[in-house]
Amino acid sequence: MTDRTDRVIRAMTNDGAFRVMAARTTDLVAKGIATHELSGNNAQTFGEFLTALLLVRETMSPQHRMQAIFGSPGYAAMVGDSRMEGGRTRGLVNRGENAGPFQLDDDTVLKVIRTLHGGKLHQSIVGTGRDSVSKAFMVYMQSSEQVAATLNVRVVMDGSRVIAAGGFVVQLLPELEEGPLAVMTLRLDDFTDLAPLIVNNDNAQWLIDELTYGWETTILDDSPLNYGCDHGPERAIGALMTLPKTDIQDMVNKGKPIEMSCSYCREDFSVGTEQLKTLLLPS
Ligand SMILES: [Zn+2]
Repeated sequence: MTDRTDRVIRAMTNDGAFRVMAARTTDLVAKGIATHELSGNNAQTFGEFLTALLLVRETMSPQHRMQAIFGSPGYAAMVGDSRMEGGRTRGLVNRGENAGPFQLDDDTVLKVIRTLHGGKLHQSIVGTGRDSVSKAFMVYMQSSEQVAATLNVRVVMDGSRVIAAGGFVVQLLPELEEGPLAVMTLRLDDFTDLAPLIVNNDNAQWLIDELTYGWETTILDDSPLNYGCDHGPERAIGALMTLPKTDIQDMVNKGKPIEMSCSYCREDFSVGTEQLKTLLLPS
Protein backbone atom coordinates (compact mmCIF):
# COMPACT_ATOMS: atom_id res chain seq x y z
CA MET A 1 0.00 0.00 0.00
CA THR A 2 1.29 3.45 -0.84
CA ASP A 3 2.25 5.50 2.16
CA ARG A 4 0.43 8.84 2.36
CA THR A 5 2.01 10.31 5.47
CA ASP A 6 4.57 13.06 5.86
CA ARG A 7 8.01 11.57 6.39
CA VAL A 8 11.66 12.01 5.61
CA ILE A 9 13.76 9.03 4.52
CA ARG A 10 17.55 8.88 4.43
CA ALA A 11 19.21 6.25 2.24
CA MET A 12 22.64 5.41 0.86
CA THR A 13 23.65 3.53 -2.25
CA ASN A 14 25.69 0.48 -1.29
CA ASP A 15 28.55 1.46 -3.62
CA GLY A 16 29.15 4.48 -1.39
CA ALA A 17 28.47 6.94 -4.22
CA PHE A 18 25.39 8.79 -2.98
CA ARG A 19 23.30 9.61 0.04
CA VAL A 20 19.72 10.39 -0.86
CA MET A 21 17.21 12.16 1.40
CA ALA A 22 13.57 12.46 0.35
CA ALA A 23 10.58 13.99 2.09
CA ARG A 24 6.85 14.20 1.70
CA THR A 25 5.64 17.36 3.47
CA THR A 26 2.14 17.83 2.06
CA ASP A 27 0.32 17.93 5.41
CA LEU A 28 3.07 19.81 7.25
CA VAL A 29 3.07 22.55 4.60
CA ALA A 30 -0.73 22.74 4.51
CA LYS A 31 -0.83 23.22 8.27
CA GLY A 32 1.91 25.86 8.22
CA ILE A 33 0.21 27.82 5.47
CA ALA A 34 -3.18 27.63 7.20
CA THR A 35 -1.70 28.65 10.56
CA HIS A 36 -0.25 31.83 9.12
CA GLU A 37 -3.06 32.42 6.62
CA LEU A 38 -0.64 32.67 3.71
CA SER A 39 -1.68 32.61 0.08
CA GLY A 40 -0.25 32.65 -3.43
CA ASN A 41 3.48 32.94 -3.90
CA ASN A 42 4.11 33.54 -0.20
CA ALA A 43 2.41 30.26 0.68
CA GLN A 44 4.36 28.26 -1.88
CA THR A 45 7.69 29.83 -0.90
CA PHE A 46 7.02 29.27 2.81
CA GLY A 47 6.26 25.59 2.20
CA GLU A 48 9.35 25.13 0.07
CA PHE A 49 11.46 26.93 2.67
CA LEU A 50 10.31 24.58 5.47
CA THR A 51 10.75 21.51 3.25
CA ALA A 52 14.28 22.54 2.24
CA LEU A 53 15.20 23.30 5.85
CA LEU A 54 14.20 19.88 7.15
CA LEU A 55 15.91 18.13 4.23
CA VAL A 56 19.14 20.02 4.88
CA ARG A 57 18.91 19.14 8.57
CA GLU A 58 18.46 15.49 7.60
CA THR A 59 21.54 15.78 5.35
CA MET A 60 23.87 17.70 7.65
CA SER A 61 22.93 16.71 11.19
CA PRO A 62 19.76 14.65 11.51
CA GLN A 63 19.99 14.49 15.30
CA HIS A 64 20.19 18.22 15.84
CA ARG A 65 18.07 21.29 15.62
CA MET A 66 18.40 23.60 12.64
CA GLN A 67 16.92 27.09 12.33
CA ALA A 68 16.94 29.45 9.38
CA ILE A 69 15.98 33.00 8.47
CA PHE A 70 15.43 33.87 4.84
CA GLY A 71 14.69 37.26 3.34
CA SER A 72 15.81 40.54 1.84
CA PRO A 73 16.31 43.87 3.60
CA GLY A 74 13.09 45.87 3.64
CA TYR A 75 10.89 42.85 2.98
CA ALA A 76 9.23 40.20 5.10
CA ALA A 77 11.51 37.41 6.35
CA MET A 78 10.72 33.73 6.79
CA VAL A 79 11.82 31.98 9.94
CA GLY A 80 12.04 28.18 10.21
CA ASP A 81 12.89 25.76 12.99
CA SER A 82 13.31 22.02 12.51
CA ARG A 83 14.26 19.30 14.95
CA MET A 84 14.35 15.55 15.05
CA GLU A 85 12.33 15.04 18.24
CA GLY A 86 8.82 14.23 17.05
CA GLY A 87 9.77 15.29 13.51
CA ARG A 88 8.64 18.78 14.40
CA THR A 89 9.17 21.63 11.99
CA ARG A 90 7.61 25.07 12.39
CA GLY A 91 7.96 28.52 10.94
CA LEU A 92 6.60 32.01 10.64
CA VAL A 93 6.66 34.98 8.32
CA ASN A 94 8.02 38.01 10.11
CA ARG A 95 6.53 41.04 8.41
CA GLY A 96 8.16 43.62 10.64
CA GLU A 97 7.18 47.24 10.52
CA ASN A 98 6.61 48.69 7.06
CA ALA A 99 8.04 45.57 5.43
CA GLY A 100 6.84 44.68 1.94
CA PRO A 101 5.65 41.17 1.05
CA PHE A 102 8.29 38.45 0.96
CA GLN A 103 10.33 38.32 -2.21
CA LEU A 104 13.48 36.75 -3.59
CA ASP A 105 15.87 39.30 -5.08
CA ASP A 106 19.57 39.94 -5.54
CA ASP A 107 19.88 40.95 -1.87
CA THR A 108 18.23 37.80 -0.46
CA VAL A 109 20.17 36.27 2.40
CA LEU A 110 19.84 32.88 4.08
CA LYS A 111 21.03 32.61 7.66
CA VAL A 112 21.30 29.11 9.11
CA ILE A 113 21.82 28.30 12.78
CA ARG A 114 22.79 24.72 13.58
CA THR A 115 22.99 23.20 17.01
CA LEU A 116 26.17 21.13 17.30
CA HIS A 117 27.06 18.27 19.64
CA GLY A 118 27.08 19.62 23.17
CA GLY A 119 24.64 22.40 22.39
CA LYS A 120 27.00 24.93 20.81
CA LEU A 121 25.53 26.99 17.98
CA HIS A 122 27.07 27.31 14.54
CA GLN A 123 25.81 30.17 12.41
CA SER A 124 26.40 31.05 8.80
CA ILE A 125 25.01 33.59 6.35
CA VAL A 126 25.05 33.36 2.57
CA GLY A 127 23.71 35.54 -0.20
CA THR A 128 21.43 33.34 -2.27
CA GLY A 129 20.17 35.40 -5.20
CA ARG A 130 16.70 35.41 -6.67
CA ASP A 131 16.46 31.99 -8.34
CA SER A 132 14.53 29.69 -6.00
CA VAL A 133 14.36 28.27 -2.51
CA SER A 134 16.12 25.11 -3.77
CA LYS A 135 19.01 27.14 -5.15
CA ALA A 136 19.29 29.14 -1.92
CA PHE A 137 19.79 26.03 0.22
CA MET A 138 22.18 24.50 -2.31
CA VAL A 139 24.32 27.63 -2.17
CA TYR A 140 24.30 27.35 1.63
CA MET A 141 25.36 23.67 1.62
CA GLN A 142 28.10 24.20 -0.95
CA SER A 143 29.60 27.48 0.21
CA SER A 144 29.11 27.26 3.97
CA GLU A 145 29.33 23.55 4.62
CA GLN A 146 31.29 22.21 1.63
CA VAL A 147 28.59 19.62 0.98
CA ALA A 148 28.30 18.75 -2.72
CA ALA A 149 24.62 18.06 -3.27
CA THR A 150 21.63 18.67 -5.48
CA LEU A 151 18.49 19.83 -3.68
CA ASN A 152 15.06 20.22 -5.20
CA VAL A 153 11.86 21.06 -3.31
CA ARG A 154 8.42 21.89 -4.56
CA VAL A 155 4.99 22.83 -3.28
CA VAL A 156 2.10 22.43 -5.73
CA MET A 157 -1.06 24.39 -4.92
CA ASP A 158 -4.52 24.75 -6.38
CA GLY A 159 -5.73 28.10 -5.11
CA SER A 160 -5.21 27.92 -1.36
CA ARG A 161 -5.13 24.10 -1.25
CA VAL A 162 -1.82 22.21 -1.10
CA ILE A 163 -1.99 19.32 -3.57
CA ALA A 164 1.49 17.97 -2.94
CA ALA A 165 4.72 19.06 -1.28
CA GLY A 166 8.09 17.44 -0.95
CA GLY A 167 11.59 17.22 -2.27
CA PHE A 168 14.94 15.53 -2.15
CA VAL A 169 18.67 15.94 -1.67
CA VAL A 170 21.20 13.84 -3.56
CA GLN A 171 24.58 14.16 -1.88
CA LEU A 172 27.78 13.13 -3.66
CA LEU A 173 30.05 11.06 -1.43
CA PRO A 174 33.86 10.75 -1.59
CA GLU A 175 33.67 7.19 -3.03
CA LEU A 176 31.88 8.51 -6.11
CA GLU A 177 33.36 7.48 -9.46
CA GLU A 178 32.76 8.90 -12.91
CA GLY A 179 30.36 6.21 -14.16
CA PRO A 180 27.79 6.52 -11.39
CA LEU A 181 28.09 10.31 -11.52
CA ALA A 182 27.20 10.31 -15.22
CA VAL A 183 24.18 8.04 -14.58
CA MET A 184 22.94 10.20 -11.70
CA THR A 185 23.48 13.45 -13.62
CA LEU A 186 21.28 12.17 -16.45
CA ARG A 187 18.68 10.91 -14.00
CA LEU A 188 18.47 14.23 -12.15
CA ASP A 189 17.49 15.86 -15.45
CA ASP A 190 14.22 13.92 -15.20
CA PHE A 191 13.62 15.40 -11.72
CA THR A 192 14.13 19.05 -12.65
CA ASP A 193 10.40 19.65 -12.81
CA LEU A 194 9.31 18.01 -9.59
CA ALA A 195 5.70 19.19 -9.64
CA PRO A 196 4.09 16.51 -11.87
CA LEU A 197 6.14 13.79 -10.18
CA ILE A 198 4.98 14.54 -6.64
CA VAL A 199 1.41 15.18 -7.73
CA ASN A 200 1.28 11.66 -9.14
CA ASN A 201 3.45 10.01 -6.46
CA ASP A 202 2.95 11.85 -3.23
CA ASN A 203 5.27 9.81 -1.02
CA ALA A 204 8.89 9.86 0.07
CA GLN A 205 9.68 6.20 -0.57
CA TRP A 206 8.72 6.61 -4.24
CA LEU A 207 11.26 9.42 -4.60
CA ILE A 208 13.98 7.30 -2.99
CA ASP A 209 13.17 4.31 -5.22
CA GLU A 210 13.17 6.34 -8.42
CA LEU A 211 16.28 8.37 -7.62
CA THR A 212 18.29 5.25 -6.74
CA TYR A 213 16.77 2.96 -9.40
CA GLY A 214 19.37 0.37 -10.44
CA TRP A 215 21.48 0.85 -7.29
CA GLU A 216 21.54 -1.47 -4.30
CA THR A 217 20.39 0.87 -1.54
CA THR A 218 20.19 0.80 2.24
CA ILE A 219 17.59 2.81 4.14
CA LEU A 220 19.42 4.52 7.00
CA ASP A 221 16.45 6.21 8.62
CA ASP A 222 12.75 6.85 8.13
CA SER A 223 11.03 9.40 10.37
CA PRO A 224 7.57 10.94 10.53
CA LEU A 225 7.22 14.70 10.10
CA ASN A 226 4.67 17.22 11.28
CA TYR A 227 4.10 20.93 11.65
CA GLY A 228 4.45 21.31 15.38
CA CYS A 229 5.58 23.36 18.24
CA ASP A 230 6.99 22.94 21.71
CA HIS A 231 6.05 26.31 23.10
CA GLY A 232 4.43 26.44 26.50
CA PRO A 233 4.83 27.94 29.92
CA GLU A 234 8.38 26.59 30.36
CA ARG A 235 9.55 28.32 27.18
CA ALA A 236 7.66 31.51 27.99
CA ILE A 237 9.37 31.62 31.36
CA GLY A 238 12.67 31.80 29.49
CA ALA A 239 11.52 34.93 27.67
CA LEU A 240 10.11 36.50 30.84
CA MET A 241 13.42 36.02 32.62
CA THR A 242 14.78 39.01 30.72
CA LEU A 243 12.29 41.36 32.40
CA PRO A 244 13.22 43.35 35.52
CA LYS A 245 12.10 41.67 38.74
CA THR A 246 9.97 44.70 39.66
CA ASP A 247 7.87 44.10 36.52
CA ILE A 248 7.41 40.47 37.43
CA GLN A 249 6.48 41.41 40.99
CA ASP A 250 3.79 43.70 39.52
CA MET A 251 2.39 40.82 37.49
CA VAL A 252 2.36 38.56 40.55
CA ASN A 253 0.62 41.27 42.60
CA LYS A 254 -2.13 41.50 40.02
CA GLY A 255 -2.73 37.81 40.65
CA LYS A 256 -3.87 37.06 37.11
CA PRO A 257 -2.22 34.63 34.73
CA ILE A 258 -0.43 36.22 31.77
CA GLU A 259 -2.01 35.39 28.42
CA MET A 260 0.46 34.82 25.62
CA SER A 261 0.21 33.73 22.01
CA CYS A 262 2.81 31.57 20.28
CA SER A 263 4.04 33.21 17.09
CA TYR A 264 4.78 29.82 15.44
CA CYS A 265 1.50 27.99 15.95
CA ARG A 266 -0.70 30.91 17.06
CA GLU A 267 -2.03 28.98 20.02
CA ASP A 268 -2.88 30.96 23.12
CA PHE A 269 -1.56 29.80 26.45
CA SER A 270 -1.19 31.28 29.89
CA VAL A 271 1.55 31.54 32.48
CA GLY A 272 0.19 31.33 36.02
CA THR A 273 1.28 33.44 38.96
CA GLU A 274 2.80 30.38 40.68
CA GLN A 275 5.15 29.98 37.71
CA LEU A 276 5.92 33.70 37.71
CA LYS A 277 6.87 33.53 41.38
CA THR A 278 9.68 31.12 40.56
CA LEU A 279 11.33 34.01 38.68
CA LEU A 280 11.44 36.07 41.85
CA LEU A 281 13.53 33.52 43.72
CA PRO A 282 17.10 34.64 44.34
CA SER A 283 19.27 33.34 41.50
ZN1 LIG B 1 3.59 27.20 19.39
